[in-house]
Amino acid sequence: MKNKRYIIVGNSIAGVSCIEGIRKIDKNGEICVFSDEEYFNYSRPLISYYLAGSLKENQLNFKDKQFYKSNKVKLFLNTKCEKIDFKRKILYTKSGNFEFDYLFLGTGGKPIIPKIKGIENVKEGIFTFMKLKDVKKLKKYIEKEKKVKNVTILGGGLIGLKCAEGLLGRNIPLVIVELADRLLPNTFDFIASEIIENKLKEKNCEIIKKNTIEKIISKDGILKEVILKDGKKIKTDILIIAVGVYPNTELIEGTEIEKNKGIIVDEFMRTNINFVFAGGDVCESKEFDNNRSVIAIWPRASRQGKIAGINMAGGEKKYEGMFLMNSVELIGIPTISFGITNPENEKEYEILKKIDYEKKIYKKIVIKENKIVGGIFLRDIERAGIIIGLTKNKVDVQVIKKSLINDKFGLLYLPENYRKHIVKGEGIEV
Ligand SMILES: Cc1cc2nc3c(=O)[nH]c(=O)nc-3n(C[C@H](O)[C@H](O)[C@H](O)COP(=O)(O)OP(=O)(O)OC[C@H]3O[C@@H](n4cnc5c(N)ncnc54)[C@H](O)[C@@H]3O)c2cc1C
Repeated sequence: MKNKRYIIVGNSIAGVSCIEGIRKIDKNGEICVFSDEEYFNYSRPLISYYLAGSLKENQLNFKDKQFYKSNKVKLFLNTKCEKIDFKRKILYTKSGNFEFDYLFLGTGGKPIIPKIKGIENVKEGIFTFMKLKDVKKLKKYIEKEKKVKNVTILGGGLIGLKCAEGLLGRNIPLVIVELADRLLPNTFDFIASEIIENKLKEKNCEIIKKNTIEKIISKDGILKEVILKDGKKIKTDILIIAVGVYPNTELIEGTEIEKNKGIIVDEFMRTNINFVFAGGDVCESKEFDNNRSVIAIWPRASRQGKIAGINMAGGEKKYEGMFLMNSVELIGIPTISFGITNPENEKEYEILKKIDYEKKIYKKIVIKENKIVGGIFLRDIERAGIIIGLTKNKVDVQVIKKSLINDKFGLLYLPENYRKHIVKGEGIEV
């Protein structure tokens, strides 16, 4: 039988996991992977450490060259995929045209650039923080312009805070401007935000909330100042824009592939064309709460890529959804936040909390009708995996409720039936 030909667009975690998924089932098919980046694979969550200087470029890779060799993958770096002919199953790139039987789209996300007055006049001083290329540019600018004294970051979400971490590692004073009333507003509550805020302030970082940048002032194309909505002026040499990402669907615009915010996939990660699959930040899938959404996090991209690969190669595996989750170290504090962490109508929920401001430890568990629906863990995250497992499996926690935020809480506290399940099955995950 003729070998199948697989094409993967994107060499980040979704694309790489897709290779692994394919090879679980099909050892001989031809796999070609395309990336428009010139760099080998790297972990985006680590680029702030590269900026800070605590990791070197070769420490950012999550797979080595041998991985591609042993999986018989042809890797095309610096090769943008420009067009796809779905009828003839041909992918067009600058380096030539490639026929395929199955296609995986793992093109990730792009930074949102808000329309701010004056932004169009700036030629030097504005950066984004998504790719290694962005960090290299930023690093070069800081090192060349030795007089960089002030940096402003627009956005106090995951990417803004990771960038702040990198800059503070270089002892550069910062201002973070956030539109919401707290940092990481998608998954943090006020207490978690305050703990991170205090830590940032200790490191010479000012935080301005409930505000945004309304105007940018430059001179001869060089950034000079930003003016906030309330009129406050901030002198700044660098502005980092980190207000969010959107799915990079450029390649399928105007084609028959269905999209909403992201490319729409079913539980097998298949698009509306049966030989085309997608996964990671580019795709919109049914998540744990049964709603279709785009959750731009690493573990989702990894899982979806692998599942897509298995199904492309003829296996059968379903994606069961994830919840909105962040598992991230911020300014040296490990944090995990997931699900509903800040319910609007608190009366409908039971909320368990434990706070130690001095040690910067915080645990919050949100319960509805005896089932955990969300949580926040700062610093003491060891047992968060068990809590997430209980949430995912909708375990009734009525009898163990009091122990949930106990420091010694562990597997032995769990109901016996559930303990058996997690020993046998995929009960726990982070
Ligand atoms: C600074 C930062 C910190 C983060 N920290 C965390 C964290 O701590 N925890 C967490 O869970 N998540 C984190 N994330 C999010 C996480 O990195 C993403 O969810 C993950 O990288 C998504 O993987 P992906 O493979 O779907 O897409 P991406 O990683 O975005 O990769 C897509 C790839 O496809 C390439 N591509 C796009 N179009 C084309 C084309 N036409 N032709 C060829 N190649 C193309 C892109 O250049 C890119 O290389 C962070 C993100 C950033 C930016």
